[in-house]
Amino acid sequence: MSGANRIHPSPSGEGTGVGRLGAENVRSARPTPTPPLKGRGFCPRGKLTPNAPLAPLVWFKSGGAAEWLFEPKDADDLAAFLRDLDPAVPVMALGLGSNLIVRDGGVPGVVVRLGKAFAKVELVPPPTGEGDHPQDGGGAGAARRVDQTSDQPACAPPPASLVPLPVPGRTLNCGGGASGILVSSTARDAGIAGLEFLRSIPGTVGGFCRMNGGAYGGEVKDILVDADVMLRSGELVTLGVADMGYTYRHSALPEGAIVIAARFRGHPGDPAAIQAEMDRIAASREASQPLRSKTGGSTFKNPEGQKAWQLVDDAGCRGLTLGGAQVSEKHTNFLINTGNATSADIEALGEEVRRRVKDKSGVELQWEIQRVGVLPPSPSGEGPGVGRRGQSALPTRPTPTPSLKGRGS
Ligand SMILES: Cc1cc2nc3c(=O)[nH]c(=O)nc-3n(C[C@H](O)[C@H](O)[C@H](O)COP(=O)(O)OP(=O)(O)OC[C@H]3O[C@@H](n4cnc5c(N)ncnc54)[C@H](O)[C@@H]3O)c2cc1C
Repeated sequence: MSGANRIHPSPSGEGTGVGRLGAENVRSARPTPTPPLKGRGFCPRGKLTPNAPLAPLVWFKSGGAAEWLFEPKDADDLAAFLRDLDPAVPVMALGLGSNLIVRDGGVPGVVVRLGKAFAKVELVPPPTGEGDHPQDGGGAGAARRVDQTSDQPACAPPPASLVPLPVPGRTLNCGGGASGILVSSTARDAGIAGLEFLRSIPGTVGGFCRMNGGAYGGEVKDILVDADVMLRSGELVTLGVADMGYTYRHSALPEGAIVIAARFRGHPGDPAAIQAEMDRIAASREASQPLRSKTGGSTFKNPEGQKAWQLVDDAGCRGLTLGGAQVSEKHTNFLINTGNATSADIEALGEEVRRRVKDKSGVELQWEIQRVGVLPPSPSGEGPGVGRRGQSALPTRPTPTPSLKGRGS
């Protein structure tokens, strides 16, 4: 086995790749966790790192480590890895971490991060043979459409007129790890309009598909043709937009499923006009959001007919702080890490905001940010106080302590 891409020592210096996958790489006497893989001879070609800090990989720059971080070489490598992974081990995909609070105790199981091989964006080529049908989607590779009668996520299919079709020359085949900027600028170069809004969402195609990302009147559900999804079992399926169970900032993708590619469709447009729209969106963002801060985007979903930022503002939370976390002064639906916030600070501040908004307006805000991982072993003392910037903490209320355990929100 080549030593180039097997288990990598954790950045903390612990672990050296000892175990079934790399006994020859022993460099210290300290035992390394053994990957929970079933097959004796199986070696992933990608990079598998135990105890990998996730804080550098997420926008908030806080939180614990992944028990395992897997960066697959390609789709086949990912499929083989998942097939060989103990089915009891949880799997979570990570994009750019722009919508995530990773709890301070880290993420159990395997976090999968898609690298370069998954970051390409290209035009869907015209059909080549008699058997081709527009609904094939192009670039689906070995994937198959999931049977709508299976237990996969499904909702009533929309009328055929509303289902986007992959028109050659108007459809982009995007890797699951490609950024919104790359997708929108490739669309511009190809004269495809309608994808400009992705310019402003700092995530990956996989994250957009999972979250039904949207902005400036556009949403993934309006442009998605279909997505290649690697299930937790290692099976690759193609899900049409109707299979995704989309609602506002939510999909019904199964637990552990990883979007490795997606087809987005637009309509003909003038590249100069598309660029102008992208510039308008970028300028509007710059003016209204704390883009240069450690943040996680919109914290709460907009309740039907209301704006979350307005409710937060009306509840007097603008600038509210807890430990190193703060409600942004610039946009009150953004939480920011002002320096050394823990994820517990950030999550507790969010809960405090929810409580104050409920008290003030009766509205129960729902988290949009995904909270993942576990809390660290219980610390001895009390948490930081809640206060406004420049004021002392309010001692009259007990500090809210995050009480959620486990994965997801
Ligand atoms: C400054 C700022 C502005 C933002 N503005 C917007 C906005 O206008 N509109 C909007 O919708 N969002 C916005 N966001 C939030 C965020 O960018 C989106 O939710 C985005 O879709 C997250 O993409 P990501 O790749 O970073 O996913 P991550 O944050 O890494 O993960 C988010 C969720 O997606 C899952 N996921 C990630 N990759 C995959 C994959 N390949 N397959 C399956 N699941 C996956 C994760 O497991 C997690 O559940 C903003 C964030 C920031 C920081």
